Amino acid sequence: MSGADGLMSEVLVVGAGPVGLMAAGELARRGIAVRVVDRETTRDSLSKALVVHARTLEIMDLGGISDEFVKRGYPAPGLDVSLQRRGRPVSVNLRTLDTRFPYMLVLPQRQTEEILAERLSSYGVTVERGSEVVALEQHPDHVVAAVRAKDGREERIRARYLIGCDGAHSTVRRLLDLPFEGKQLDSLVLIGDVKADVDLVRSRITNLTSSRGFVSLLPFLGDHVRVFAVDFSRQNHTRNDALTLEELQETVNAIAPSKITLTEPSWLTRYVAPSRQVRRIRVDRFFLAGDATHAHSPAAGQGMNMGLQDAANLSWKLAMVLRSQAPTRLLDTYDLERHAVHTSVRHGTDQMFRAFTLTNPALQLARGILTRTVVTRAPVQRRLAGRLSGISINYRHAHLGERRRRAALQPGDRVPDADLWIAHRASIRLYELLRDPGYGLFVFATADRLAADRRHIAGLIAGVTQTYGPAVRPHLVVDEGVIDPTEMGAPVYVDVAGHFARKLGARHASVFLLRPDGYLAAHHTGLAPDQAVAALAPWCLQH
Ligand SMILES: Cc1cc2nc3c(=O)[nH]c(=O)nc-3n(C[C@H](O)[C@H](O)[C@H](O)COP(=O)(O)OP(=O)(O)OC[C@H]3O[C@@H](n4cnc5c(N)ncnc54)[C@H](O)[C@@H]3O)c2cc1C
Repeated sequence: MSGADGLMSEVLVVGAGPVGLMAAGELARRGIAVRVVDRETTRDSLSKALVVHARTLEIMDLGGISDEFVKRGYPAPGLDVSLQRRGRPVSVNLRTLDTRFPYMLVLPQRQTEEILAERLSSYGVTVERGSEVVALEQHPDHVVAAVRAKDGREERIRARYLIGCDGAHSTVRRLLDLPFEGKQLDSLVLIGDVKADVDLVRSRITNLTSSRGFVSLLPFLGDHVRVFAVDFSRQNHTRNDALTLEELQETVNAIAPSKITLTEPSWLTRYVAPSRQVRRIRVDRFFLAGDATHAHSPAAGQGMNMGLQDAANLSWKLAMVLRSQAPTRLLDTYDLERHAVHTSVRHGTDQMFRAFTLTNPALQLARGILTRTVVTRAPVQRRLAGRLSGISINYRHAHLGERRRRAALQPGDRVPDADLWIAHRASIRLYELLRDPGYGLFVFATADRLAADRRHIAGLIAGVTQTYGPAVRPHLVVDEGVIDPTEMGAPVYVDVAGHFARKLGARHASVFLLRPDGYLAAHHTGLAPDQAVAALAPWCLQH
């Protein structure tokens, strides 16, 4: 690489797909100086991902933008699977999930990108289009990326950290010499966005199977339907052969139990689903996120959702390390936490895809019996709903603190949202309290023991604030009572409905450190300031 280096950015994001836009937006809203480059001059107009899952919506809620998503999409409360040509389908229901969003939101990917791009530009960040990263350098305290414009001119961009969100064919991954291990799955998939004259229950994904293969139908706003099909008798093509509407129609006729007429295609393609992953998603000051790190079958609509959650997981950590509010070893947890999630989701979607594409009649029969007898059971339904929605994702495997008693949330668990009461507001939710930068420290006290412990609670809050400064925002939650916040040194909330105590497993003198991405960092019981300061030490730097 040659040429003079420009001013140093804090983070350079490579790629302005959904994951790059999310990472850059999350950094910008925390005041980090971020640059975003993308080699394309315009945004991709294809709507590949159509589903935004509940956990992703919760992450958007934590970023203050979930309403924008919900407003533009529509909720699908579950999916139906028909494993015989006739008979009742088996459903996976999301309604029982403990979340504000007990559904999949059907929203074309280009709209997800639009919302994220609007948010990014509201922080004054413009995507630098027509700028392709072609080389990388690692230095002890920064990185340099050579970025080539369409006219051939090169700029050397210096940044403290770089995030490669440059998709399945990632240049960053290649330049870091990280093999994309795995393979392409065997079956050729047919994809069409078309109009269909069928009375689908509008808000459900319908999966139909027969001995010819399977068809999945997902209606989206504007009367179009995404058809996703594997036809065993149409496997003698390559992915580059054009797909015609007539071929797709014939496949649907052969698999669906009744006639569905397809018209007005806006997208027709053949696709070979990958099942690939990198071994590491961090190399020193370089990070990878989204499709650059993991690629799997679109079954269950997980790809973009995983990537958006990668971006959310990494951004707050980078912001806190850059502001000297957290130790640099916090960045190690990105790989520890997300890599295991990628592996588990990839295996899950591979299994689902294989189950749908069984060709052996005996195995197809067994699949039907198993689905009807097992999938309909309540515990299995809950498990499937948790996995599909991302709500059951947790980072227990990578937690930094000690484990807690069984009834309470464990470090690494997702913290469910909870309604609270505070003076002078109609209501407030826990997730709204996590929107500001930094960790949320929540001390829980019961009214019967508050009088005796008032001084200790105020002492704990003062001790944590003096030690960690703005990295930790303290809050006191009580089960009832009216307490003067000025006396406590923190805002005071009332757990009127008991949600907080029940969902977090809180008792008197429980102390919780909540991460900005809505997972539990640390939890202990006791009001000694030294104990609290020590419990927070793996997560925060003294200020
Ligand atoms: C048919 C289909 C259906 C799908 N359905 C779903 C679904 O329902 N739900 C779901 O969650 N996911 C779904 N996915 C997956 C989803 O589309 C991807 O996971 C998502 O687009 C990944 O986003 P990304 O930002 O990581 O990468 P991309 O969207 O690929 O963006 C990468 C960006 O990086 C840029 N770039 C590349 N190289 C460079 C470089 N050297 N320098 C600068 N810029 C560069 C590119 O121009 C691009 O803008 C589906 C995918 C397909 C194909």
